[in-house]
Amino acid sequence: MFEYAPAPESRDIVDIKPSYGLFINGEWVEPLGEGRDKTINPASEEVLAEVAVAGEADVDRAVQAARKAFTVWSAMPGSERAKYIFRIARIIQERARELAVLESLDNGKPIREARDVDLPLVAAHFFYYAGWADKLSHAGFGPSPQPLGVAGQVIPWNFPLLMLAWKIAPALACGNTVVLKPAETTPLTALAFAEICRQADLPPGVVNIVTGAGETGAALVRHPDVDKVAFTGSTEVGRMIARSVAGSRKKVTLELGGKAANIVFEDAALDQAVEGIVNGIFFNQGHVCCAGSRLLVQESVAEELLDALKRRLSTLRLGDPLDKNTDIGAINSAAQLAKIRELSEAGEAEGAERWSPTCPIPDKGFWFPPTVFTGVAQSHRIAREEIFGPVLSVLTFRTPAEAVEKANNTPYGLSAGVWTEKGSLMLWMASRLRAGVVWSNTFNKFDPTSPFGGYKESGYGREGGRHGLEAYLAV
Ligand code: NAP
Ligand code: MG
Repeated sequence: MFEYAPAPESRDIVDIKPSYGLFINGEWVEPLGEGRDKTINPASEEVLAEVAVAGEADVDRAVQAARKAFTVWSAMPGSERAKYIFRIARIIQERARELAVLESLDNGKPIREARDVDLPLVAAHFFYYAGWADKLSHAGFGPSPQPLGVAGQVIPWNFPLLMLAWKIAPALACGNTVVLKPAETTPLTALAFAEICRQADLPPGVVNIVTGAGETGAALVRHPDVDKVAFTGSTEVGRMIARSVAGSRKKVTLELGGKAANIVFEDAALDQAVEGIVNGIFFNQGHVCCAGSRLLVQESVAEELLDALKRRLSTLRLGDPLDKNTDIGAINSAAQLAKIRELSEAGEAEGAERWSPTCPIPDKGFWFPPTVFTGVAQSHRIAREEIFGPVLSVLTFRTPAEAVEKANNTPYGLSAGVWTEKGSLMLWMASRLRAGVVWSNTFNKFDPTSPFGGYKESGYGREGGRHGLEAYLAV
């Protein structure tokens, strides 16, 4: 194995303020309450900034600002709205390096991923939906589809800026205004985005950012003047939100958890499959809702594939997220690390065999080595529950029918991967897998033109593509 000299990306490009207020009506304002929170760098536990905690009254101010702005924004011709959204997309591109470093610092993800995956997709999402803003009457939702009003949006910490883009870009394109709450542990890129809205001269109140924890999210979701709730996060909180809006006129989309099967047949190109498995579960430390966390491998090639996978995993580098050589960054929080540890211990206790490459762990920060469990049974917790970390559970199968049955044996249904040389087998599998996205001989591929969303407990509604407009239009 090659030795790599450290190649750290400089953090001088980011200018983190010691403290942030709330972004309401195009201005930075102090919260009405005393609440303050800190966001840390999970790779070093260093405090990055102090952030306001929005209370009920602050959320109300933000919703009122969005309501007022809705009059202006929804009346604007789509071609004019498009100009603002294009401008936002271009500013994101211009500031991509800064935003990538900020994301990596606040979230713990490798700079290589923030720079090469998150940021290009964020800009692409705004470009894509800018293109729809003046074509809504041709989108297949009637001759004159109307916006819904004020969208209350709550997002998780795993792809902070990308989830913001998935929420804000279609909402604005359709003529809605927005109040968005980022996750407690990763508010900084959303706050940088607020600055970008100002830079783009977006009319005040069209985008409002309220920081805080679950309570702030709950206040936003139940606010009576919110017309649309868009949530990405855990199935547990998704259920609470579904209950809280039940019986109201609010339109809801929920993008929740997953436990995706990555299915490898004996005729697959195994080296390619190994790369796909690694990308499927070790990308972003496995903090991916559609992660291929269950590997289903055909028994005849299981040994060969696992040997190759272990060899490959021994080459992954874990450490400083800002180092351009790093493959595996930090776990986002102490709480998430505790959850990953708990489930991994349960895997061992239930009799699965645990393996990790030798991998030095830094002294400070939150880390978990890439981990593979073999001998996993369907009944094990690590086969059923979302771990949301760099942990792969391996199961085997003999026939395609058995693969389908095992893959679908989960309350979730967000994504799946199928590795085979045979097109007919691929299509046979795809038509039987209960998953919103099925990747063929690849995994974790995203594109703004392609709809994304789940079946069953993975939620409802689609984001991305033409389908993604529907969530923000009265149709
Ligand atoms: P989470 O605990 O559900 O939190 C998601 C967001 O909801 C955060 O902003 C959180 O605030 C907020 N929140 C917490 N309690 C709330 C409440 N009662 N009412 C309203 N909002 C509330 O999920 P997470 O642990 O951050 O994220 C991981 C989960 O997200 C995983 O299950 C993953 O699969 C899922 N996910 C799904 C998709 C998808 O597209 N389907 C994409 C990414 C992630 P705080 O962070 O401040 O507590
Ligand atoms: Mg943080």
